Amino acid sequence: MQKVGKGILVLAEQKHGKLHKVTYELLGKAAELSRKCGLPVWCAVAGPEELPVEELVFRGAQTVFFGADKRFDTPDELLLTRFFKQVVRDTEPGICLMGATSFGRSVAPRLAAALGTGLTADCTGLELDEDGRLVQIRPAFSENILAHIKTDTLPQMATVRYKEFPEAARDEGRKGEVVRVELPDPADRLAEVVSELKSQEADISDAEVIVAAGRGVKEAKDLGMIRELAELLGGRVGASRAIVDDGLIGRECQVGYSGSRVKPKLYIACGISGAPQHLAGMRESGYIAAINSDPSAPIFNIADIGICEDLYRAVPELIRKIRAAKDK
Ligand code: FAD
Repeated sequence: MQKVGKGILVLAEQKHGKLHKVTYELLGKAAELSRKCGLPVWCAVAGPEELPVEELVFRGAQTVFFGADKRFDTPDELLLTRFFKQVVRDTEPGICLMGATSFGRSVAPRLAAALGTGLTADCTGLELDEDGRLVQIRPAFSENILAHIKTDTLPQMATVRYKEFPEAARDEGRKGEVVRVELPDPADRLAEVVSELKSQEADISDAEVIVAAGRGVKEAKDLGMIRELAELLGGRVGASRAIVDDGLIGRECQVGYSGSRVKPKLYIACGISGAPQHLAGMRESGYIAAINSDPSAPIFNIADIGICEDLYRAVPELIRKIRAAKDK
């Protein structure tokens, strides 16, 4: 098979010195592609000095390009884009992979534009054709078809959905090289991060229980009972796009096609109709409970248990029953 470019580069994600698991999933996929085309697996990461970069080697990176700088403690996406662009320019990879997380969705388009290359977002599959070109597979038209996309320009850049591929196995015996990368000149910065926006809700992508609110929840203050139920169950709050667009809750809570894809053990949908774009993000949940006053709501078609009831009655009742059971 022909080699396109000089390597497969995974663009790592970290926050406050902790690597995001999507990076390990991408390294696993990169290794699989590498076995077919013979290109080396590389990883680029920027973060604080104490970042455990050897972990990236244990997960299969043959070379790690490390930008160690405390400026990366804050999520300055413009600076990160410049860092990744520099690594790509210096190393000339044929393939660049990034997670389709909020971080990846923000940085990858900037990077693709800066490099003058294409970007296929939200991939669920990656293959190589007989000429060694990357076939980027992603659902299209509300997940009704799987599009197979090839990019004419280099590097071939794709973001990949979190939890789509298994993580690369960890092997402490793996050897790799860590190459320090000098960062872009600080005087060249386009923006200064003065503070990090603190979200009221925690990250939902790894939550084991999610209580999600839809347009059945009429006002922001009514989200209090959703949060209370989530807290009681040790879970997090999710949302449909409808109430995110209405400004009731932050975008980081959105579940679905254009939000997060989640696989909790328990998903409770409160006042959510079950549009295909919402189901795309939660249908693989372990156990799905739906509360909806409309018996014909499509969410009931995929729910393990359906409660056809006004959520303003059902949710407080559930809270009361769970509290009573806990107090016993
Ligand atoms: P609605 O469809 O309005 O449903 C509200 C439900 O609440 C109804 O079923 C109603 O019976 C019920 N209800 C009302 N009052 C009560 C009550 N008191 N008690 C109980 N039940 C009640 N959507 C997403 O969620 N995530 C995405 O990522 C996403 N991406 C999209 C991407 C594209 C390109 C497009 C075109 C759309 C996308 N959407 C997404 C939007 C999606 O199509 C739906 O519009 C949206 O999911 C509807 O949200 P909802 O179920 O909260 O609202």
